[in-house]
Formats: sequence, C-alpha cells, structure tokens
Amino acid sequence: MSLHDITSRIAKAETDAGRTPGSVELIAVSKVQPDARVAAVLSEGHRCFGENRVQEAESKWPAFRQEFDGVKLHLIGPLQSNKARSAFELFDVIHTLDRPKLAQTFARLAQEMGRCPDMFVQVNTGEEDQKAGVLPADADDFIKECLSLDLPVRGLMCIPPVDEEAALHFALLAKIAARNGLRDLSMGMSSDFEKAIALGATHVRVGSAIFGERTAG
Ligand SMILES: *Cc1c(COP(=O)(O)O)cnc(C)c1O
Repeated sequence: MSLHDITSRIAKAETDAGRTPGSVELIAVSKVQPDARVAAVLSEGHRCFGENRVQEAESKWPAFRQEFDGVKLHLIGPLQSNKARSAFELFDVIHTLDRPKLAQTFARLAQEMGRCPDMFVQVNTGEEDQKAGVLPADADDFIKECLSLDLPVRGLMCIPPVDEEAALHFALLAKIAARNGLRDLSMGMSSDFEKAIALGATHVRVGSAIFGERTAG
C-alpha cells in the first residue's frame, strides 16, 4: 500500500457512494512511524496528519512544519486535561473531546488565546470500559454543553470495537450526528475506511495502510 493507493481507493469509495469527489479528508496517521516514512509522505505532497499522543507530536512536528508548509495536524488520541494547553497550541483539529472537564478547559483556553482548534466529540459507540468517549445515551447532552461553551464542534468521532461489525457503529455515529445537526464524521481506519465512506465519513484516519505496520504502539 502507499499514499497513492489509498487516495485512489478513497476516490472510488466516494464515487461508489454517490458522494462528491474530494469530500472525504484523508488523515495520515503517523504515530510511531519512523521520520523517514513521514517525510516521504510529506514529499509526495500530503499535508494532513494524525497523531495520538501530544508529547510524541511535539517532538516531531515543529521540525516538519519548518520544512513543509501547510501541515494540518489532528489529535486522535485521548487527552489528559494537563496536556490540553499543549494540544491547543500544536493541533489544528482535536477529535477526542469527551468530557465536561475537558470542554471547560478548552473554553477557557479559547478565551485566553482568541482562537480554538476545530473539535470532534468522541463517542464510545461500543460502550467499552477501556475506551474513551462519551456514551451514546449521554452524547446529545454533552454536545449541547460543548456548543453552549462556544466550542467549534464540527462533528463526531468513533473507534468501533475490534470484534464487532464496524458498519453498525458507523451508522450509529451518523445517526447521533444527524440529530444534533453536526455534519462531520471522523470514522474508518486502514481496515474499514471504504465502509465508513459509504456510511458518510468526512474524515478517515488511515495509518498502517499508508506507512506500513507500526513496530510499536
Ligand atoms: C492508530 C489509529 C488509527 C490508524 O489505525 P490504522 O489501523 O493503522 O489505520 C486511527 N484512529 C485512531 C484513533 C488511532 O489511534
């Protein structure tokens, strides 16, 4: 697999689903990948990347940003409140807003800095204990709370349970977004992004299919 293969498969999935070509954004998930592989994808012209840890992203992206213009960084991993400020400074989009305390911290930072990354609310569609995200039953209230704090919530994000049919989770996420008037859906990874596009994904998060298998993490 390569960047080119994945962008072709995304284009085909968009067409197959009757979606507008170019309506799905590819977030290349570069976590744990060697710098040389990330630099190769940057050199091919790709600019949209995802990282799941603030500290790791801080250690590699400032240098890449000096070398390559127009990089957009997405935080796709769980965020501790004490890292919220660093995340705010580094990331253009945060996909893992999932609890009131974090929402309040972001609202404070937005006031202080006069800007705010776009946000996705993460929904724990599989109701898994070990997974971050607001429960589906609590999603509507939480989304309202975030919007009342003036946070720029663009959509919802989910990571389906590994042993369940992902399509059920994608459909549930789309339903929750629709009834809350949210347009964007961050869903679909290397193994299931085409399915996610068929069900309305606007952002797919693809790592290993672009970069190769991760050796750790
Ligand atoms: C690592 C990761 C991905 C990418 O996974 P692949 O299977 O390598 O495509 C997507 N989303 C999240 C939240 C991740 O942590």
